[in-house]
Amino acid sequence: MALLPSMGTHSTLKHFIKLAITLGVVSILKSNAVLGQTAPLPSTSPSFTPSKEGHAVITIYHHVSDSTPRSTSLTADELRIQMEYLRDNNFEVWPLDRLIQALQNKEPIPERTAALTFDDAYISIYDTGWPLLKEFGFPMTLFVTTQPINDNQRGYMNWDQVREMSEGGVIIANHMVNHPHMVDALPGETNAERLARLRAELLAAQEHIRRETGQDHKIMAYPYGEFDDDITAMIEELGFVALAQNSGAVGYYSDFTALPRYPLAASFADIASARTKLDSLAFQVLEHSPRSPVTDSKNPPVTLQLAGDFNVSQLGCYANGKALTLQWLDRDAVRFTIQAEEEFQMRRYGYICTAPKRGTNRYYWFNKLWIRSVPGNAD
Ligand SMILES: [Zn+2]
Repeated sequence: MALLPSMGTHSTLKHFIKLAITLGVVSILKSNAVLGQTAPLPSTSPSFTPSKEGHAVITIYHHVSDSTPRSTSLTADELRIQMEYLRDNNFEVWPLDRLIQALQNKEPIPERTAALTFDDAYISIYDTGWPLLKEFGFPMTLFVTTQPINDNQRGYMNWDQVREMSEGGVIIANHMVNHPHMVDALPGETNAERLARLRAELLAAQEHIRRETGQDHKIMAYPYGEFDDDITAMIEELGFVALAQNSGAVGYYSDFTALPRYPLAASFADIASARTKLDSLAFQVLEHSPRSPVTDSKNPPVTLQLAGDFNVSQLGCYANGKALTLQWLDRDAVRFTIQAEEEFQMRRYGYICTAPKRGTNRYYWFNKLWIRSVPGNAD
């Protein structure tokens, strides 16, 4: 019996190390720092547990190839191993529209549920990704940007191929006409003009997809995963659901104007790190301030209140794999502020918070996205 607590600690330690690897904490020294930061203490203040939880994960892929830019690519073998993981671990892979409907209506969802999405209508999705998913019998969604297809741009599918996928059961959904950075105004454009342009572009892409395929799902994916409060208000007003591309699981309480998706390409393609994400759960985010990801700062603060069936002492937040200090506003209510010390130079970055669900090795996962759009910081 005396062994049991230490076995438990060891197992927790293993989970932390696995997670640290997933989060990109490379050196053992750093992972020790992570452990120090979040060392489990006996908790007298269990977090609030929602009475009803439903979870799923949505993955996002671009190229399925070894000859395209690695940052947005995974190889056919890497995709196959991820699909085998889903198959062998009893995942239900659902069409995206069914998943969204079930989440919004808080319908029962199988313990492990995933939806698979591909952005940009790249040709390798047609000739490699889709056939592979068909082998597994997994449904998928293709988010198409219409102009490159109209222009017969090299590396993209044509409308015949998109229609073939549509007729084969693939959900075809909206990824705008020109793949814009939606948070950026054009030179001389007012904010009202920007929003009018985006609305017209969204509806034009929707109409074009409907005309070509007959599909008219009110589901769109933000190019580059970028959005702001004005955009999410527009999405809501138009009755769309929108997907971003910051990491995280989805659940009953998700923001349906910016559903997170896990990009599982490049260094995230390997199943050793991808499996933690595929197994993850959605925190209920009770407070999230500021809500907009757009910032002028290289390390802005954010205040969060997170709920779920986890031990507060095991909650950890990270930026670029480094543990962040949780500044408690109300520990019993799991309400806190985090701010990176490191200043981020890139256009998009984020803070990740995780906590293991009690009695499981599955992690709740939330990613606070930041977008710092400044001249010369476009991509
Ligand atoms: Zn895209």
